[in-house]
Amino acid sequence: MRTPRVRRGLVSLGLTALVVLQSVGAGAWGNEGHTYVNRVAAERIPADMPRFLRRAVVEIAYLGPEPDRWRSSTEFALKNSQEPDHFIDLERVSWLDPLPQGRYEFYGKLYEKRAATTDHPDDYLPEHVGLQPYITMEVYGRLKAAFREYRQLRTEHKPTAAVQQAIIFYAGWLGHYVADGSQPLHTTIQYNGWVGPNPKGYTTEHKIHAQFETAYVAAHITARDFGQLVKSPERLDDPFARYVAYLRESNGLVEMVYELDKAGSLTGNGSPEAFEFTTHRLAAGSQMLLDLWYTAWMESALPVAEHPPATPATK
Ligand SMILES: [Zn+2]
Repeated sequence: MRTPRVRRGLVSLGLTALVVLQSVGAGAWGNEGHTYVNRVAAERIPADMPRFLRRAVVEIAYLGPEPDRWRSSTEFALKNSQEPDHFIDLERVSWLDPLPQGRYEFYGKLYEKRAATTDHPDDYLPEHVGLQPYITMEVYGRLKAAFREYRQLRTEHKPTAAVQQAIIFYAGWLGHYVADGSQPLHTTIQYNGWVGPNPKGYTTEHKIHAQFETAYVAAHITARDFGQLVKSPERLDDPFARYVAYLRESNGLVEMVYELDKAGSLTGNGSPEAFEFTTHRLAAGSQMLLDLWYTAWMESALPVAEHPPATPATK
């Protein structure tokens, strides 16, 4: 009597573990992908950026998966508040171009749309559409502000150890969202199985997301496979616009992931096409991350107004 019960227990434990692993993996590049994107970017920090940051490769790599550590139901409020930060369903906001720069302007537009919609109005709730570019620019802003403090403390010949820690944290944290944005399935309603008209017969099973970003990457890719694709950083003239363009480019590659799945390239031995596609996506993530770090550093040298004019949001 005992053995079957133990076995049943083990089977159900195994299934529970599988479900937990899948739900964790379903949120982002897997642990490997996020670590690689951050590491590759950190290894390419140029000599005209602070030396302490160039030496923080291990810390920055560790922080790649950090926001995925905030998705456990044991910390309900945390999980609940930041889950929409990892994605944006661009098809749901095709009518909103350009996207507004501020989170609350974005909310306002979405609630207007929801009020005017009778068919599935809740599809336009901000937490259902996703907030990817907003959290990214908010963490970018934190990094830039910390770089500014660092420059000021250096000018005053004061200790900088504390602000260095803050900078490393913001730089690593930023990497998570930027990497999510390079994963096409983080930019689409087609995030985990095709929905709606399906003339090409793509998979409708809820497996492709984790299969691509976690299982495939862990089995076939290392940081060394795409490091050489990442170039010296560029100072971005308009980081928000460039970041949204980066998300749209990623969204344009959604079908490619489904094609690879259909061809069987994401399982077993993979394929040269899957390898080429995935390494270029990971490299795009590292490149955008490096460009944002570099832009934040350069922009942090610019003077800021002492007392910026009050906006309604600050009253
Ligand atoms: Zn994520």
